[in-house]
Parts: sequence; C-alpha cells; structure tokens
Amino acid sequence: MNALSSPMKPVPVTTPFHCLRAMTLQETHLEINLKALAHNYSVLRSRLQPQTSFLAVVKAFSYGHEAAVVAQKLEALGVNYFGVAYAPEGSNLRHHDIQTPILLLHPLPGHFESIVAHRLEPSLYSLDLITQLITYLEQRNIEDFPVHLKFNSGLNRLGLSLKDIPDVLERLAQTKSVRVVSVFSHLAASEDPKEDAFSRNQINRFEAFYEGVTLGLNHKPFRHILNTSGIFNYPEAQYNMVRSGIGLYGYGNDTQFDALLQPVARLITIITQIHHLDPGASVGYNRGHQTNQAMTTATLAIGHADGISRLYGQGKGWVLIHGQKAPIVGNVCMDMIMVDVTNIPCQNGDQAIVLGPELPASSLAESAGTISYELLTSLSQRIKRVVIDS
Ligand SMILES: *Cc1c(COP(=O)(O)O)cnc(C)c1O
Repeated sequence: MNALSSPMKPVPVTTPFHCLRAMTLQETHLEINLKALAHNYSVLRSRLQPQTSFLAVVKAFSYGHEAAVVAQKLEALGVNYFGVAYAPEGSNLRHHDIQTPILLLHPLPGHFESIVAHRLEPSLYSLDLITQLITYLEQRNIEDFPVHLKFNSGLNRLGLSLKDIPDVLERLAQTKSVRVVSVFSHLAASEDPKEDAFSRNQINRFEAFYEGVTLGLNHKPFRHILNTSGIFNYPEAQYNMVRSGIGLYGYGNDTQFDALLQPVARLITIITQIHHLDPGASVGYNRGHQTNQAMTTATLAIGHADGISRLYGQGKGWVLIHGQKAPIVGNVCMDMIMVDVTNIPCQNGDQAIVLGPELPASSLAESAGTISYELLTSLSQRIKRVVIDS
C-alpha cells in the first residue's frame, strides 16, 4: 500500500527510479493513472445491482499496466475478487500483500504447489483436471480447497460440457478435498450486437449447466458469466458477480461505452533526432520509405521491442506531437521509430504521445487490424511505469 501513500507524486513500481514529475521525464514511460482506474471502476459498478460482486481481471500485468499497483488500488476500492490467467501472476499479487480472493483462470498441473501455497482458486475446466487436482490435494490431506467450475457455453476454449455433469458430481461426491465456490462461463462475442442470439444462447446453456450441477451439490455456489462488454450489453445476466478487465483500463469495445471511460495508460516517448530529407532519400531498414518530396522526420525512442509492432509501420500508425498527428514512416525498428513531422514544429527532447486519453489504444490498434487488448498487453517490461494518483 505504500506505493499509494504519496499522492501527487509518481511512485516507483517494479524498479526504483528518481521521483521526477512524470511530465519532465526524458525517457519513454507509461503513465498509469489510478484516478482514471477508480473512475472506470465506479462507472462499471454503476451499471450493476449493488449486491453484485465485482471480479477485476488483472492478468497479463493487468493488461500491460502494473498488476500489483492496479490490484492494490482496486483492493482499496473494494473489489471482491481478482482474476489472473496463470499461477505466477497470482503468486505475484500475494507477494504484494493482496488478500482478496484470486480466481485462477488457467491452472496448469505444474502449478499446483503454487496454487495451494498462495491460495489461488483454480477454475476447473475438465474432468481430467478435476481428477488431477483432487488426487494432489488428497495426497496432502488438504480439505475444502476453494474451486470454481468452468462451463463451456460456446467459446470452445476451456470448459466442461453438459454431458460431463454426472461425472463431475460423482467425483465431487467422493472427496472432501474441494469446495465449489462458483460456477461460471465466458461469452464469445458479448461486444457484437450481430451475435446477440449466440450470446443469449450461451446464457441459456449456462443456466442449464448451473441447474444440473446444483441439483447434485448440497449448497448453491455463486455464478458469473459477464465480461466488460457483457456488463454493458447483458446486465440482466449479471447473476452474483461480473468479471471485468478491459473496461477497468478505460476501453469499452464500443465508442458509446468508450465515451464513459478514461484510458488509464498514457504512453509517452521523446524525440531524439530530427532529419531534414531531400526528395529521393530513404528512411529506415530495407529503405522502408522513399521520399518523393522534401520531408522532415523525427526519430523516437520506442520500437517493436517495446510492443509497437511492425504492423504499425508504413504510415498505418501514428503518434501525437504537440497535439498533431505524426504518421510512422517506413518500418518500425526494434528500439526506434521515425515519424513524419514535416508540418509539425518540434525539436529534440519534445514528447510524443503514442497512446492515451488523447490517442486511444483502440484507435491505434485498429489502424493495424488489431484490438486494444493486444496493443496494451504487448507493451513490454522495458518501458518504465510511472504511477499517478492525483
Ligand atoms: C480475460 C477474461 C475476462 C475479462 O474480459 P474483458 O473483456 O477484458 O472484460 C473475463 N473472463 C475471462 C474468463 C477472461 O479470460
């Protein structure tokens, strides 16, 4: 919690660094705005019944942000659960003193030891996994370990099917090692109105699975199926809990919902050299761009090793310099990009915004045919994170 105790100042996250004001940092950095995070949480909460629990998805470094700091803030705001994909992500939260229950979406048998040691609550998605976990727990005389049953309602990624119900119930009846805390499923296209019938069918199938499972259990686990877009589009299916990731980080998968949210991350880099090019010059590896008139380029301290994929090159992606669009020229290099600043007065040391409230990750992602999720989670650990809580 000490990371949050000094408002107004950026605080160190993974590695210590000088507490300069973020605005003056002369290096590439990702601002993480905890006020925007709190705003998004309250917007999402306001769409729900007061008694509905909220699971905050903080997998993949909280979508490229900074898992521990984000989770600490959300824990202080009162979220009921966290969700991570893999066990090391959950143990990292425990190492940062997170006490809130953690749902582990993709438990691997190789992670059982850490799952038990860090009280991670596994999603049980196959009969095989159920058997393996029960065997592991029984060998260690562990009882009542909290688990969640995952139903495959149509995504066909992970999950039990309706026909597995008798076997699931039989295995659960024969052991004291686990306790089913919740039953859940995941929508395949909750953001897409064209798939409305499919989503509703998933919700109906989920109901059937829940009824079938609870007939054979002597208690009623809680249930949940909605992700961020589900919260906006299918609030009637909120049951006892929702699971939100992208919305917390400020993206709603729809311009109407984006407008309610605030991007938490702002990625800033700096100009390190300016080139005035004659017609016929070339820019970057493989002469990726060749000028047919005079052009001024700025070289920026960010590249594909930082998560700005080569797909953004060749004019597809752009940055903002002094509020103006500067398209990427030629190919993205590992550590740098060159942008067109012919019509933008600027100099060495000036900042360029790569994504943030002024240039949403969803827009940049779309320019290269991808989605905000991929762009945000690609932002590499080389980029310094600076937390802002004021
Ligand atoms: C990643 C994930 C979520 C979060 O989805 P968002 O669209 O980011 O809200 C919820 N549930 C499951 C099972 C997930 O894998």
